[in-house]
Amino acid sequence: MSRLIDKIARPEIAKLTPYAARGGAVQNAILLDANENPWAPPSVSGPWNRYPAQQPAALRARMAALYGVAEEQLLITRGADEGIDLLFRATCRPGIDAALITPPTFSLYEVAARIQGAAIIAEPLGDGFDIQTDAVIAAIKANPVKLVFLCSPNNPTGKLIAREDVLRIANASADQLVVIDEAYVEFADAPSLSADLGDTPNLVVLRTLSKAYGLAGARVGAVLAGKYVIDLLRKVLAPYPLPGPVVAEVSRAINPVNMAVFNTRIAQIKAGREQVFAALSRSVDVQKIWPSSANFLLVKLKSGSDVAARLKRQAVHVRDFSSLEADLIRISIGSAEENTALLGAFGVAEKQPVAPRSATVSRQTKETQISALVNLDTIEPVIIDTGIGFFDHMLEQISRHGGFSLVLTAKGDLHIDEHHTVEDCAIVLGQALRQALGDRAGIGRYGFVLPMDEAQARIAIDLSGRPNLRFEADIPAEGVGGLGGQMVPHIFESLAQHLGAAIHIEARGDNTHHIIEAIFKSFGRALKPALARHGSAIPSTKGVL
Ligand SMILES: *Cc1c(COP(=O)(O)O)cnc(C)c1O
Repeated sequence: MSRLIDKIARPEIAKLTPYAARGGAVQNAILLDANENPWAPPSVSGPWNRYPAQQPAALRARMAALYGVAEEQLLITRGADEGIDLLFRATCRPGIDAALITPPTFSLYEVAARIQGAAIIAEPLGDGFDIQTDAVIAAIKANPVKLVFLCSPNNPTGKLIAREDVLRIANASADQLVVIDEAYVEFADAPSLSADLGDTPNLVVLRTLSKAYGLAGARVGAVLAGKYVIDLLRKVLAPYPLPGPVVAEVSRAINPVNMAVFNTRIAQIKAGREQVFAALSRSVDVQKIWPSSANFLLVKLKSGSDVAARLKRQAVHVRDFSSLEADLIRISIGSAEENTALLGAFGVAEKQPVAPRSATVSRQTKETQISALVNLDTIEPVIIDTGIGFFDHMLEQISRHGGFSLVLTAKGDLHIDEHHTVEDCAIVLGQALRQALGDRAGIGRYGFVLPMDEAQARIAIDLSGRPNLRFEADIPAEGVGGLGGQMVPHIFESLAQHLGAAIHIEARGDNTHHIIEAIFKSFGRALKPALARHGSAIPSTKGVL
């Protein structure tokens, strides 16, 4: 492996002693070593008077877990873009070395090569944008190539490269780093090649939080590679590349508790991609459209189509690729409303959908970390994981009987008791429902349930915006399944407060499990007509709720 580094590294970088940056967070010490200011400024939320670690340990550990590699195999970078730049600066001698690319592909590889003074060897994709594996291997052997860039799924074609082809190229490239850029792999039905790093020492994988995790503005990505490659890149990495506020914000965002919401969003984008693909295939403006494994579609317009002018009039931006080929554009997949606006310009919009009423709420405290996504206008998915099985089952009753989609994950201090987790989940659910309701236009507002002869729970709801709970039920303190009896009125108190609703509950019965379940089920049932939307009027003589 170090033999590989000898061949790969620019000799002057291999010999370089890097700038000595402070190692990272230090506690209980007097810090007079970095010429910092002892005071953080007013109006900031952290110790930003201190230099951050070059590689913040907690974020590195989290990203290593996210990408399924060891921490020593991961370098956090300012976007995958910086990873590309570091690879060139660490390996390519100006005027001597070269990088191989397979156009059409991500244009930054060539820009970064030119900046470093490296040559570009281009081995174009074939018909249907397939990689020409044998030609790529022959070109690597015939040229002074240090870096091979393979993008999968490829930008702008959306096409995945088969793992066998990547590994065949990597195994035939003893003196090169083979870089697989997986900026879009989360949208593909294929796993990352990070699992192959152990067996393929010259393989480098690029990942980013910009696309699937919606963090393009934070500028965080990662290089995944063997430890020797990571150590080499670290020599050319800036001493303090990652601003403290970015690290704090990104760490909150990619908390494991948010993964169910991310996965739901990714599934939504993949479904949107197939809908847009099908609709555009029917448009008279479209000559050809390629299947995609990413969050975009490459489209060839009929020559003479004026769709570009229509898109422009409606302020819909798509990426022009006429430099590659006439009438070629790349379209990113957006929200349902954004996709409909796009399809409208192509004359193939389904009827204008009413914007779905959805909201996400995330709450992270020392006691609990909770993430929720509700969509009042679809019934799937329902994914609930609070760590308390019986409570999951009760929240599922609300969602299923209420007829809305709920993704809610919580990680709380259950080693103390269930109180914080249950209370905070009720707060987050109430807040998410309230946000999703928006101005409450068109809703039924009221919900009623008469006693079901077996369930014996009676619930009335008014989504009035004014919190109020009346709770009349005797629930034994021991409760059921880890959910204490006194928590039940508390849950509905929190829901009433944070949803902004009057909730009246009466329940009777002999079996505690049945009483509690009847309450949650009936609450869902009562919520359903109250949430349901018919038209756009605000259901109040005051005109506001
Ligand atoms: C968007 C993109 C990147 C850059 O990602 P950042 O992490 O935002 O720098 C890298 N590679 C490809 C192919 C991309 O499309």
